[in-house]
Amino acid sequence: MKANIAVLPGDGVGPEIMAQALRVLAKIGEKFGHEFVTKEGLIGGIAIDEIGNSFPDATRQLCEQSDAILLAAVGGYKWDNPTAPDRPERGLLAMRKHFELFANLRPVKTYPALAAYVPLRADLLEGVDILFVRELTGGAYFGPRKEMGDGDDAYDTMLYSRAEVERVANVAFRAAQMRRKKLTSVDKANVLASMRLWRSTVVKVHEEYSDVALDHVLVDACAMHLLTRPASFDVVLAENMFGDILSDEASVLAGSLGMLPSASLGATAFGLYEPVHGSAPDIAGKNIANPIGMFLSVALMLRYSLQLEAEAQAIETAIDAVLADGLRTRDIARPGEDSATTTEFTDAVLAKF
Ligand code: NAD
Repeated sequence: MKANIAVLPGDGVGPEIMAQALRVLAKIGEKFGHEFVTKEGLIGGIAIDEIGNSFPDATRQLCEQSDAILLAAVGGYKWDNPTAPDRPERGLLAMRKHFELFANLRPVKTYPALAAYVPLRADLLEGVDILFVRELTGGAYFGPRKEMGDGDDAYDTMLYSRAEVERVANVAFRAAQMRRKKLTSVDKANVLASMRLWRSTVVKVHEEYSDVALDHVLVDACAMHLLTRPASFDVVLAENMFGDILSDEASVLAGSLGMLPSASLGATAFGLYEPVHGSAPDIAGKNIANPIGMFLSVALMLRYSLQLEAEAQAIETAIDAVLADGLRTRDIARPGEDSATTTEFTDAVLAKF
């Protein structure tokens, strides 16, 4: 197949890990006979410096003409001035909004080789492989609000329409069909009206996916179960704020922030793929960043936007194999242990294809 991919390296370690991700993508193209046409655009701090806008028109057009967006990271000390008219992260938010990317997918997995980095008993971590599907454009973060101003009260409103719940539930059920066919919907239906709508809508959408087992868990219980029985979850569907909190809680199950990828999807196959971590300015320019979250983001792009499941799995399997061989970037090496550079780690991944 032929696919057009917008490549946005951004700031900090972004260009370093993106350069390695493009090597992995090229290798996949070569091995499986695909043509991935990649075009670079500016986003974040570098776009502010060069164009005066964190999400320039040229980048928007490039993304509009592409099948998917691959982004590394934005931000850094240089642009940290809170009074500046534009900030790197603003470019990212503008892009999510522009493309109406309402579903955020975050897989979290414990690698047996890294279990020692997770602050939970090893027996609880066996088989942990969770996909969070977080609603990204509704709920209390976007509902009617009142700022404090000079007054004594303020509020945010957790507002959801049936249509908003339906569309993200469809994404979650479809993802469950491609995995272990189990979906846990998180809510607070015992207290919140919006969450009763959430639950009844998810139950209705489930009628279209009879091959997927559905259960409902209250958010407070879910926070506990993620630590007491993390291996029992497959796909976890949650509204915006609950998903934000639970997916961060669960990220510790992976051992390092550098390991985690994400996908932001809308109504079509088009999507934005980026590692969960930021631009890591403290280690930028040293060729020591962990590229795994970036590589797994490429795998998610192949899986969800390009429907290339075997190709996605080839990347995931290669990373598993390199970790099992004992190769580690600095963030996942034990104190005093030798560590691989970003480039060396990538060479080892490429050698597995
Ligand atoms: P960060 O994720 O950049 O870094 C947190 C810590 O994790 C740092 O010690 C860093 O060295 C380490 N780390 C992160 N990614 C790593 C990797 N791939 N390999 C090894 N170590 C890694 O978060 P921060 O320091 O709070 O933020 C730095 C900048 O990134 C800020 O400007 C912030 O606004 C921005 N940010 C951007 C995004 C994004 O682009 N999506 C997300 C979060 C933060």
